[in-house]
Amino acid sequence: MLTEPTAHIISPDTGTMSGASGKYEKKLCDLDGLYADQSAFKAQASSGGDTIVYEVCEQRPTQQAGDLIFGTTWMRPGRIGNEFYMTRGHIHAQANRPETYYGEAGRGVMLLESPEGDVRTLEITSRVLVYVPPLWIHRSINTGDQPLVMSFCYPSDSGQDYGIIARSGGMAQRIISVGDGWEAVPNKSYRPRTKDEIAAVYATCD
Ligand code: ZN
Repeated sequence: MLTEPTAHIISPDTGTMSGASGKYEKKLCDLDGLYADQSAFKAQASSGGDTIVYEVCEQRPTQQAGDLIFGTTWMRPGRIGNEFYMTRGHIHAQANRPETYYGEAGRGVMLLESPEGDVRTLEITSRVLVYVPPLWIHRSINTGDQPLVMSFCYPSDSGQDYGIIARSGGMAQRIISVGDGWEAVPNKSYRPRTKDEIAAVYATCD
């Protein structure tokens, strides 16, 4: 049976998409363990734990393999210590599924890491499209002083594995504030994946 075609209006101001059936948000208190400066996190979370750090609006037309999931993300500007607000980040549960992100408003960085621990950073601003190839762990970071709004699109059978980052003590690099800009620095808590852990990622690819 044919699915009805649809058109969706994206608002760069609010970070929302019309006709989105799903929505979720992450509050600061949901993001414990992401940031290097634990005491700065606790201090901010004790008074502002309910602060919404990011929100996702999405549409999943069908669950069928070959279909798409698309929507928008909105992320508040801010920092924990010198580290910018970021998403939890993930690899796709079927790790060979790709994704695109398109900058709608604000300024940010897409931080990417291969299973072997290679790192890439790509700046995303209004009208920049970032391609996340298969097999790359990805996380977005708001490096600006305004909300970061992006639209995204990925295959409906991708799934998300959030644990891959936690199991390695975070991503290999952190994005910190330096002057008016940002810098990627090594994450001291990072533990490179073992050969078995890397093999497990590749084993998800069908
Ligand atoms: Zn993704």
